[in-house]
Amino acid sequence: MKSKPKKTQKQPKKPASKAEVSENKEVAKKKKNRDFKINIYRAWCKNCGICTAFCPTKAIVSDETGRPEIADASKCIGCFQCFQRCPDFCIAVFEVEDKDKDKEE
Ligand code: SF4
Ligand code: SF4
Repeated sequence: MKSKPKKTQKQPKKPASKAEVSENKEVAKKKKNRDFKINIYRAWCKNCGICTAFCPTKAIVSDETGRPEIADASKCIGCFQCFQRCPDFCIAVFEVEDKDKDKEE
């Protein structure tokens, strides 16, 4: 008779390391209240995945074919890694005006 397979125990989630906490703080510091718009010129893109590999916040991610997608533009910190690393100059990042600035008197 076959014995029942043992249930695998769920591993407790690891607490964030000091390095991860400090990295998150650094990202938050860079972001502040700035918003960025990401443009990808699809006609020039060869889906190499370099831009998404270097994006520190995963504002852009690659789909299963390697095609870059904007996952969440609000995560963009304007580091310009994607712009600087793209070998075909087909990604651009612009800072957009803070919407709340208009409301200030
Ligand atoms: S500018 Fe930086 S954070 Fe924004 S999409 Fe490009 S690599 Fe990601
Ligand atoms: S680095 Fe440039 S060519 Fe490569 S996937 Fe990103 S946008 Fe496309």
